[in-house]
Order: sequence, then structure tokens, then C-alpha cells
Amino acid sequence: MDFRLSMEQSILRESVRNFAEKEIRPVARQLDEAETFSRELTKIMAELGLFGIFVSQQYGGQELDYLSYAIAVEELARADASQAATVAAANSLGIGPIYYFGDERQKRKYLPKLCAGEVLWGFGLTEPDAGSDAGACLTHAVLDGATWVINGSKIFITNASTDISGGVTVMASTGKGSDGRNELSCFLIESGTPGYTARPMHGKMMWRASNTSTLYFEDCRIPKENLLGQQGKGFHQMLATLDGGRLSIGAMGLGGAQGCYEMALKYAKERKQFGRPIASFQANAFKLADMAMEIDCARLLLYRACWLRDQGQPFTKEAAMAKLFCSEVMGRAANHAVQLHGGYGLMKEYDVERFYRDQKLLEIGEGTSEIQRIVIARLIGAF
Ligand SMILES: Cc1cc2nc3c(=O)[nH]c(=O)nc-3n(C[C@H](O)[C@H](O)[C@H](O)COP(=O)(O)OP(=O)(O)OC[C@H]3O[C@@H](n4cnc5c(N)ncnc54)[C@H](O)[C@@H]3O)c2cc1C
Repeated sequence: MDFRLSMEQSILRESVRNFAEKEIRPVARQLDEAETFSRELTKIMAELGLFGIFVSQQYGGQELDYLSYAIAVEELARADASQAATVAAANSLGIGPIYYFGDERQKRKYLPKLCAGEVLWGFGLTEPDAGSDAGACLTHAVLDGATWVINGSKIFITNASTDISGGVTVMASTGKGSDGRNELSCFLIESGTPGYTARPMHGKMMWRASNTSTLYFEDCRIPKENLLGQQGKGFHQMLATLDGGRLSIGAMGLGGAQGCYEMALKYAKERKQFGRPIASFQANAFKLADMAMEIDCARLLLYRACWLRDQGQPFTKEAAMAKLFCSEVMGRAANHAVQLHGGYGLMKEYDVERFYRDQKLLEIGEGTSEIQRIVIARLIGAF
């Protein structure tokens, strides 16, 4: 076994870390407070090649492996979850479905702009009454001559209502199967299509500088050829997309935990009580030791899952494990980090306060922790 990163992966980590330290960390708190999506940071992240990392060069991507993608997201999340979320959602949820399931015309039409980061694209599964059970969606599409007519709504959709949002991939019911369950298909819907509205959602506890939207479709007509892949394959496309997406959420947990740990270690060595640095009290040193150990476990689990994917091997169980473990490790790390900061950890001027809030989404988005445990339990044959 070889645990070393390649030269390219190490260079990528260093350049994303430098960028995040220089450009993101100084403004992250302010963007969080103002609940503002940053066009400027998105532009620089695009220049760094962070959109379309795993897409082949013929469509404008970087053609790097999935581990490189995870490393980039990890380094962004070490400084700020919102910027990491913009990149992770753009790649896994925006670019991924078009790249893996789109036909040649769709790929040529959409991917170059998405990979250049000029345009963002969302992925709409979740509905007000269909979250964990996304297959029970009420949004439906009916073929009328040469157009699909879409009606319904989606909620919590990342990257769908910024100034540079170009559209969304939407999962909708296209009928009922013989078992009475929804036949699901995915559609590409461009911003500005009559009958399609995307509205930003405000008042989030976390990821406040990441764009989240509600989508409405009212007799929204799109050309027949905007069906993604084959009719009836939407459920399969969703599951495959979420497998990859879970690796990037895992990377966000890992990077966020690393950020919490570094801030906590620094603070605990500087802060003195009873005439000694608080890190020298065993109760605190043990918290830091636990954080270091769990982060190491999380990194090994996540990188192994990415490696499996890069080898073309099945990785659904490992992706669910990595997403679940990394997000819960960040939860414990953020909790310890705030505890070690004492009262200061509850104040906005200390970044651990933001990390503590940002962590929670990781246990909910792209399949809650309960759903990950169901996926793992099924795959180990528990039921
Ligand atoms: C900031 C943000 C960004 C998001 N981005 C996107 C996006 O880009 N695209 C998109 O489609 N969605 C997105 N989501 C939605 C997210 O994926 C859902 O919130 C998530 O899947 C959970 O669905 P829900 O909120 O409806 O919760 P529910 O499904 O109602 O779950 C509520 C609780 O019940 C539990 N539960 C449900 N079913 C079971 C079960 N069978 N067994 C045990 N427990 C169960 C859940 O684990 C949870 O604890 C985003 C959400 C947020 C907050």
C-alpha cells in the first residue's frame, strides 16, 4: 500500500490552501453575517480550475481524479464551508449529471461554461414533501408534442438562483411503473425559461454565503431533447450522483474538522488559566488527541472511498461510510473546539462559532446520517 499523494495532488492541496488562507478566510465571517454569495471568490475559484476538476479536457475540465477533487474541497472547507459548498455542489450536482448522463450535444452545450465557472447549475431533487424519500416527488413532466411540460416545486436547491445560475437538472415523475411507484426522469431546465422561477432562501443557520433556492415550475415547457439520458432512468441517475456527491460532503466534513482542530490547538496553547496553557490540562489535551485521531481515521476512510471510485470499483457503501463518519467527526471536532475556546467560542469574532453552525448541514444534506446508516446496513446485508 502507498499512502503518499502524487506530486500533482500535493501541489493542488498547497495551492488551494494558499488561496483559501489568503482570499477566503479574511472575508468568510463577513460573508456569513451578510448572508452573501460571493461572485468574486467564485471567479477566483474558477480561475484556479476548481470547477470541472474531474471532467475531461475536451469539455473544458481539468481531467484530474476524484481524490484530487476531494482534496480541493477539503482545503476549501478547512477555511470556510460556504465556499466549499459552492464548489462541491457545482461539481457533484451541477456538472456531474450532465457529464455522466448527458448526450454529446448536451455536454458540448453546457459543460464548457460550467467547467469555466462562468455559469453555475443546480440539481433539484428535494421537494417540500419529498426529502429523504426523494423518489416520492410530486413534480411531474408530461410530453406534449415536441415539448415536456413541467409542473411542481423543489426546495433547498444549491447554486440555483445566483446571478450566474444557468439552470437546473430536475427530477420529475414521468408516469407510474407497474408497481404503482413513480417512473422518474431528469430534465435540463435553463434559467429564464417561461414558467420556471428560482428564488433565494434566506435565514439559514449555516452555509450562509452559499446560495440556496426554492424552485417553481408552472406549465414550464422545455424542448423534448432536454431530457437527460433515457426516460425512466432518473432514479438511477440520482443514486449515482449522490454516491459521488457524498464523497464531496465527506471532504467538507474532513476539511472542517481539520480547521476546527487547528484553531483549537492554537488557542489551547496560547490561552492561560491557573498560570498554565489550557492545553496542558489533561482533559483538554485528550480532546485534542481525540480530534487528531478521528481526523486521521476520517481521511483514510474518505481517500480509500475516492481511490475505489478512481479504480472504477463499487464504492457506494464506502461513500456512505465516509460521508457519515467525516460529518460526525466534524460535529465532535466543532463541539470540542468551541468548548476549548470557552465563552469566546460562542462569539462571532472566533471562527469556531461559524464552523459549529456550518457542520450541522453535513449530517442532513445529500442523505441524512440516518439514511447513510440505512444504505450501509442494506449493503452489509443487515436487512
Ligand atoms: C443548505 C441546504 C442545501 C441543500 N442542497 C440541496 C440540493 O442542491 N439539491 C437537493 O435536491 N436537495 C438539497 N438539499 C436538501 C437535503 O438533501 C434534504 O434536506 C435532505 O435530504 C433531508 O430531507 P428533508 O429535509 O426533507 O428531511 P426528511 O426527509 O423529512 O427527514 C426528517 C428526519 O427524518 C429522518 N428520516 C427520514 N426517513 C427516515 C427513515 N426511513 N429512517 C430513519 N429516519 C428517517 C431523517 O434522517 C431526518 O432526521 C439541501 C438542504 C439544505 C439545508
